[in-house]
Amino acid sequence: MKKFGSIEVICGPMFAGKTEELLRRIRRLEYAHKHVVLFKPLIDDRYEKSYIVSHNHNKAMCVAIKTSNEMLKYVKDDVDAVVIDEFQFLDDDAVDIAISFSRRGIRVIASGLDRDFRDEPFNNMPRLLAHADLVTKLTAICVKCGEPATCTQRMIDGKPAPYNNPQILVGASESYEARCATCHEVPGKIYKYE
Ligand SMILES: [Zn+2]
Repeated sequence: MKKFGSIEVICGPMFAGKTEELLRRIRRLEYAHKHVVLFKPLIDDRYEKSYIVSHNHNKAMCVAIKTSNEMLKYVKDDVDAVVIDEFQFLDDDAVDIAISFSRRGIRVIASGLDRDFRDEPFNNMPRLLAHADLVTKLTAICVKCGEPATCTQRMIDGKPAPYNNPQILVGASESYEARCATCHEVPGKIYKYE
């Protein structure tokens, strides 16, 4: 019997509970004794290297990968589901690999930031979203006004980070907040219509 695969994407800004939602779906699969393989990019070592960890310290063991094609050797034909956290930090081939897993009948569940601190599409996420069968967009709460937040605000020394900051900052002393589109600030950003 042919198995049907799918691509599910959990996206939204920081502090929206994306990893929590990912962990919830992992737990459901584990209760059903499904064979699940978990990955995350090595760049994200905020807490521990070989776990997917949410901000409130729930976690699941996973394989930390440097490039997306490392996933191929871990995903054999007996795998039911592949889970990938922080998808936006992987290369563009990660999308093609997710498609190939889905075509092999595997359920792919990916979580990532849909937009960067400039509020622009993040790296490989637009392509992943175009190929997704199911998209869950989560919102956080704006720290300024309390409305639903869809944007990730980068702060440097307590001030909004300028547009010309790099998309990915590793090891810098930056911090992040969730904000709504009205309260989101990117000094130097030119909006096409306003
Ligand atoms: Zn706001």
